[in-house]
Amino acid sequence: MRTLTLATADKTGETVTLSGWVVARRDHGKLIFLDLRDRSGVVQIVIVPKSSAYEIAKTVRPEWVLQIKGEVSGRPADMVNPELPTGHIEIKAEEITVLNEAATPPFDPREDTTAINEETRLKYRYIDLRSERMQRNLRLRSDFVQKCRDYLFSRDFLEIETPLLTKSTPEGSRDFLVPSRQYPGKFYALPQSPQQYKQLLMTSGFERYFQVARALRDEDLRADRGFEHTQIDIEMSFVEREDVMAEIEAMMTKVVEAMGYKIKEKPFPRFSYREAVAKFGADKFDLRSEAEKKAGVLAYSWVVDFPFFEKADGGGWTFTHNPFSMPKPEFLEDHLAGKKIPEILTTQYDLVCNGFESGGGSIRAHRPEILEATYRVMGYSPREIEDSVGHILSAFRYGAPPHGGIALGVERNLMNLTGESYLREVQAFPMTGAGHTAVMDAPTPATPAQLNELGLSVKLPKK
Ligand code: ASP
Repeated sequence: MRTLTLATADKTGETVTLSGWVVARRDHGKLIFLDLRDRSGVVQIVIVPKSSAYEIAKTVRPEWVLQIKGEVSGRPADMVNPELPTGHIEIKAEEITVLNEAATPPFDPREDTTAINEETRLKYRYIDLRSERMQRNLRLRSDFVQKCRDYLFSRDFLEIETPLLTKSTPEGSRDFLVPSRQYPGKFYALPQSPQQYKQLLMTSGFERYFQVARALRDEDLRADRGFEHTQIDIEMSFVEREDVMAEIEAMMTKVVEAMGYKIKEKPFPRFSYREAVAKFGADKFDLRSEAEKKAGVLAYSWVVDFPFFEKADGGGWTFTHNPFSMPKPEFLEDHLAGKKIPEILTTQYDLVCNGFESGGGSIRAHRPEILEATYRVMGYSPREIEDSVGHILSAFRYGAPPHGGIALGVERNLMNLTGESYLREVQAFPMTGAGHTAVMDAPTPATPAQLNELGLSVKLPKK
């Protein structure tokens, strides 16, 4: 039905049919020029007077959707545009069909839309996404995810989906709750990560799992953090810390090098948490020189040996990273006994790249008494432990293998690959900084009928 604009580059002399959007119209004396955009790029169309195409071409405006039939012909030497893959040819239009007209867009997707007011950009996100920058970013995102998938499949991982409606669990952030119609007064929680399900999959013997998973956390929004993000979530059985780190390092290297990026240092340098804080003042840092920043180099490193626990706000202890982690083997005895708590180090490893945490994971406490000890340190009574993680303790009593894993943040990795400073530049439909969804403007009130069905009444906070 159509030829892509990019494919016209080597079709001189042939008649083609193109479909796409008008980027611009230029009336040059008698000739009319159109730039037509499709997913592959842009091509120049030329329309000569006294043709039926000419009458239509006179009326078309930017962002109209057209089908154009015409002959690919070489441009005169002085008209060649070396910047464009199709810059040496143009299409001599014979027929133009208007597939749809377009209202004047609220902003011009040919310009740098990052300068446009955020509310407007996200309200009209479908237009914003036409911009070259957003097209490039989302293509890069798809490419990154596909290459991770390809790598993981080549290494015998299985892709398994886990539920979105699940139970509220202690993972450090506030849950999004979903009221239950069948059980008024009860709530599902949206997953902060597939952490527990992937551990159950290890218990089931799948041994190597991954998922391109949505994770939802009701946290304060920041430049690099939204309510929803996607993670490449991975878990492996019969592994130690070194095995997981080696697998992930191999994957990241293969993926980003295949995408044409340069990695500053291989193998990735390692820092203990203590070293990182002493050297960089934080556990996320940027190892690149100014020149490397300009060249888009990726500087990965690992941070390991984090303290397992830290003082909780209300006194007592809480976990620093992940309550399901295994302490480092040399601290296991103290951990089980609840002794020397501030000294206990966890098997957690964080992958840092260009100042962001690009991933993090750990070896897990796969024996029930180790997980129980973690919760005891955090002040949980046996009853509270049972309520909170009883299901997973029970699973671990049925032959859970040693296992560990990691989650890589897709958006943060894409921010590094694109050089973008905001999460919204690498997500198709992000939220505004004020927490409104793009285009559709949620959250909205529920109708009385909906509330009634859910057994809920709304009590608004006093202003
Ligand atoms: N569940 C962790 C997270 O989402 C990652 C992991 O330990 O695998 O950050």
